[in-house]
Amino acid sequence: MGNTIFSKIINREIPADIVYENENILAFRDINPQAPVHILIIPKIEIPTVRDINGKEHGPLLGEMIDVANELAKKEGISENGFRLVFNCGKHGGQEVYHLHMHLLGGRQMKWPPG
Ligand code: AMP
Repeated sequence: MGNTIFSKIINREIPADIVYENENILAFRDINPQAPVHILIIPKIEIPTVRDINGKEHGPLLGEMIDVANELAKKEGISENGFRLVFNCGKHGGQEVYHLHMHLLGGRQMKWPPG
């Protein structure tokens, strides 16, 4: 099961700097950080993109991902100044890995609009 690099991280087939894990979720530092804090929060089940999310089915899981983001933001010292949560979806969204992931970015002033 699992074709993406993130499945391999979940299965411990390749290493990652894991900062959080529970039965549903894994979080690890992005290998190419775009901010002083850049963590990827992923569900352990395979959902390729935001397009595959159904609110009724996945709502609790997404809520848990936000809880983890808030917990990690506090732990990393970026909660008070704020941070950015990003889901890239599909080609125009700039998605590279087709295993759902939420980027937690912080530790610097973010710009808007994004590139
Ligand atoms: P996205 O463009 O939203 O699909 O983001 C994929 C992210 O995964 C990028 O920010 C990559 O730097 C990151 N990434 C790719 N491979 C790894 C890896 N082995 N460990 C940690 N982060 C990775």
